[in-house]
Amino acid sequence: MNLSKRLDTMTPSFTIGISSKVKEMNSNGIDVLNLSIGEPDFTVPEKAKAYGKKSLDENCTKYDLVPGLKILREEIVKKLKKENNCDYSIDEIVVSSGAKNSITNALLAVTNPGEEVLIPKPYWVSYPEMVKLTGGIPKFIDTKRENGFKLSKEELLNAISDNSKMLILTNPSNPTGNVYTKSELEEIVDVCYEKGIFILADEIYERICYVDGFTSVASLSEKAKEITITINGFAKSVAMTGLRLGYTASNREVAKAMSSIQGHLVSHPSLTAQYIGYGALVECEDDIKHMVSVYRSRRDILIERLDNIEHVSYIHPFGAFYMFIDLSDVSKKYNWEKSFSIEFCEEFLNKYHVAVVPGIAFGLDDYIRISYACDEDTLINATNKLEEFIDDIFN
Ligand code: PMP
Ligand code: GLU
Repeated sequence: MNLSKRLDTMTPSFTIGISSKVKEMNSNGIDVLNLSIGEPDFTVPEKAKAYGKKSLDENCTKYDLVPGLKILREEIVKKLKKENNCDYSIDEIVVSSGAKNSITNALLAVTNPGEEVLIPKPYWVSYPEMVKLTGGIPKFIDTKRENGFKLSKEELLNAISDNSKMLILTNPSNPTGNVYTKSELEEIVDVCYEKGIFILADEIYERICYVDGFTSVASLSEKAKEITITINGFAKSVAMTGLRLGYTASNREVAKAMSSIQGHLVSHPSLTAQYIGYGALVECEDDIKHMVSVYRSRRDILIERLDNIEHVSYIHPFGAFYMFIDLSDVSKKYNWEKSFSIEFCEEFLNKYHVAVVPGIAFGLDDYIRISYACDEDTLINATNKLEEFIDDIFN
């Protein structure tokens, strides 16, 4: 049978694929140290869950408003004002079934088939596939290692063509954990505004930030707000990965377009998830702060450990819960057949039972990505194994 040509250029998600392989190995009795998928090891705070349970008891299970519950959007508006210094009204917020859903809504609302979406490298694994699936053309932009792989104004200017429609900017970054300064963002906004390019500002990790003064793109100016679609969600900050809840904040016209699209594709996200998200916003400030402080201490442990492993360096992480590890020394050492990072990760998993994600999934083959959204023992044991593996390669 002939399936859609869309599938011809689509690569299945590496992050989801590795995590499924780990589950399979676990079910076969093999213990795996899992540093692959970016999924918090915390559970959803009880106080938030209570809102979901109550909503079910009160039979809040019928169709509701497409862009999301009014009370939830009102709380999101307050959060964006208080924490991100962004002024939105509730008709500029669209709540979706996860940030993935929010991103595809945005792509469908803004880009025409054949238009370019600019994606700085390294990038989160799903962006290029989402762009292709929605008919756009991913155009990758090389960034510099010495600049922590942050996009510069010059790199952006060189990449823009008459066919460019949108830039995807992830801040804090997945996979590097790097965070843009206000002035770096201002330069990027100026270029995009002048050239008429939308910015999809994926800020899903903004709560998990270890530097003061995180800047949301849309907070910079009225111009910035006009061209920016901010992506956020509850998966990372409140450990709600499986509940699937994300949202966008954008100008009213774009919000209306995304809402119309969502009305046909999913209607609205599960009401139970929305009530839990509402509970998280009104009740769980302390739980979120606690989780972030734990991530920070894990990051510090990881940095100290990696600093003592030969042939390894990394991009210093200021946010999210990832480290992007540079293994170019290791990749040069051995005659890898196809892709260094894929072969390295396969051997690491099969022989040492440690799961990490190959850098090629993010566009750079000399790297691997570690997620430290796991407990400290797992982290220590996994880095010991990393040292052992690299020793074996060199000796
Ligand atoms: N953006 C980034 C940068 C991510 O790492 C992820 C992974 N969860 C998403 C979006 C998608 O989030 P969600 O699970 O809410 O769909
Ligand atoms: N975004 C997370 C990651 O990068 C979760 C998996 C996914 O959705 O890709 O690992």
